[in-house]
Amino acid sequence: MSLLKYIGRFAPSPSGPLHLGSLVCALASYLDAKKSNGVWLLRIEDLDPPREDARYISTIQRQLDMHGLHWDGEIFHQSNRLAHYQDILEELKQKNLAYDCECHRKRIKEIGGIYDGRCRRKTKFQGDISTRLLIAKNDETKILVTDRVFGDIHQDIYECVGDFILKRRDGFFSYQLASVVDDEQQQITHVVRGNDLLPVTPRQKYLQKCLNYRSLKYAHIPLIVNQNNQKLSKQRQAPAVRNEDANKTIWYALKILNQKPPSYLFGASLNQILSWAVSNWDMSSVPRQNQSVLNGQSLKNFH
Ligand SMILES: [Zn+2]
Repeated sequence: MSLLKYIGRFAPSPSGPLHLGSLVCALASYLDAKKSNGVWLLRIEDLDPPREDARYISTIQRQLDMHGLHWDGEIFHQSNRLAHYQDILEELKQKNLAYDCECHRKRIKEIGGIYDGRCRRKTKFQGDISTRLLIAKNDETKILVTDRVFGDIHQDIYECVGDFILKRRDGFFSYQLASVVDDEQQQITHVVRGNDLLPVTPRQKYLQKCLNYRSLKYAHIPLIVNQNNQKLSKQRQAPAVRNEDANKTIWYALKILNQKPPSYLFGASLNQILSWAVSNWDMSSVPRQNQSVLNGQSLKNFH
C-alpha cells in the first residue's frame, strides 16, 4: 500500500486532556517521524467507553494543534473498528490460536497471575466469557524486542505471561489486540510510546507473528512521574497542558527528552522551537529513567 519508509502514530485514549506526560510522548513520536521525513498519524484509542468521554477527543486535537503537532491525514478511531477486531478473533480461533475462557480474575490472581489454560479445551460456558490467545510452549515464545531506547529486551512469554486476553469479559477488546491490528492496518513502521508499554511489547510481537504481520521498530520513552514516583495520568488528575503556554511546554518537554534545547529558544515561537527540535532530534539521547517534574524545573512555571 505504501512505499513510505516511516509511518508513525500518536495514539491517545480520550480519558482526559493531554497532560505533560502524554504531550512528551506525542512530541517524541512527532519529532522522530518528522526527522525521517515520515508521516505522523493520529489514532484515537476509544475502546473503553466507561473510562472515556468523547468530548476529550476534540480537546486533544486542539491541544496537539496548539502545540504545533499537526498530524497527517484522517483521524483513525478504534471505536469504528469493532467488527474488524471480531473478525480477527474468529480467524485466530479458527486457527486454534485463541479460545474462550470463563475464569474470573480472582482465580487467576490466586494462582499467581499467569493463566493456567484451564478453559483451553472447554466448549460449554455459563455467563460472560473472555477470549485468550493460546501461548503453547515452544521456541517461538522466546521474544526479543530491540528497543531504540532500552536495547535488547528478552522475554519468554510462555513463562512470564501465558495465554493473554484479547477480548475482555465485559465485551471490550484488549489494547494488545486493537493496537497490533491497527498498526498493521495503518502500515505503521515505527512506534514511539511511553515505557509503561515496554513489558507488553513482547506479547504484541508474538501476536504480530500469529497474524503474519510485519514487524515494527519500537522506542519506549520515559514517563513523567510525581514525587511518589507515580506516572502522571488522567486517573491521577494530572493537570492538562495549557494551550497558552505551548511554546514553553514544548521547550520543557525537549529538556525532559534530553534534547538540550538552547536557552535562547525558551519563549521563542513554536515554529522556531519545533524546527530546531526536528533538525536536532536524537533518539539516542532520550533517557531510560522516568523523569520527575519536580526535578530542577517546577511544573508550576508551566501551568
Ligand atoms: Zn478460563
